Amino acid sequence: MQERQMSEEVRNDNPYSRLMALKRMGIVQNYQQIKEFTVLVVGVGGVGSVLCEMLTRCGIGKLIMYDYDKVELANMNRLFFTPQQVGLSKVEAAKQTLLNINPDVVIEAYNENITSGTGFNQLLERMQNGALKGGPVDLILSCVDNYAARMTINSACNELDQVWMESGVSEDAMSAHIQLIIPGETACFACAVPIAVVENNEQQIKREGVCAASLPTTMGITAGFLAQNTLKYLLGFGQTTFLLGYNALADFFQNYAIMPNSECKDPNCLKRQKQD
Ligand code: ATP
Ligand code: ZN
Repeated sequence: MQERQMSEEVRNDNPYSRLMALKRMGIVQNYQQIKEFTVLVVGVGGVGSVLCEMLTRCGIGKLIMYDYDKVELANMNRLFFTPQQVGLSKVEAAKQTLLNINPDVVIEAYNENITSGTGFNQLLERMQNGALKGGPVDLILSCVDNYAARMTINSACNELDQVWMESGVSEDAMSAHIQLIIPGETACFACAVPIAVVENNEQQIKREGVCAASLPTTMGITAGFLAQNTLKYLLGFGQTTFLLGYNALADFFQNYAIMPNSECKDPNCLKRQKQD
């Protein structure tokens, strides 16, 4: 019986039957719920674009994307964007490609800077009301490449008590991390700013005309971990990872959790800590 079902699924030629096989195999009990979830992604660059493609191919219900940048030829050493898209805003180019892959996904695209006054207010509004049936989105995913944008997402999520995941790839493309942040329960971005950010002045790292390294491999791996952790968190299977660190040179992984800091500088983080 099981074998007949499987061959029907394979013959079926339908990508959803492959995804639904996870249910039949007892790994994910509720895979069909994926189409009810809304995820808001900030940063559609080397990590964020691949992450959005993965979630689109997995059948996510709705994606809300933010990015202030345009596609450039310099982005072609990463995955996802093509030379024909140079000059388009990253979110507009991504929306076209993603709808072409899966027209069932609802997509909102904002070519905005989330650290500007209007950008931040709009982000807060979308976080609170952007879900498919209205109300708060299910998860925020940060795929930005700078401290100011991460701190902005952090303060928005602490204010709204919104769960989010942070991601980052180092300037030499040889290490990366993903982190699940549950306000008040795990360290927020302001509770424990990564050492690399504390020790390096960002202005110095991003000197005018000096090019940071980037590899499609490390960015693709990071996007894969972030997408996998998103599926686990939303669909409730396996163990959702709190903090996963990856060292590409040694192929070494670290997996741990950081507790909130009772001296965190974000008052909303302290408020959430007292609530828990
Ligand atoms: P590079 O800096 O190496 O040229 P990049 O700017 O494309 O590359 P990525 O690390 O690939 O950087 O992606 C990060 C993405 O986050 C970029 O597309 C960037 O435009 C976006 N981003 C960063 N800060 C903000 C912000 N404040 N508001 C909206 N999008 C942002
Ligand atoms: Zn904190």
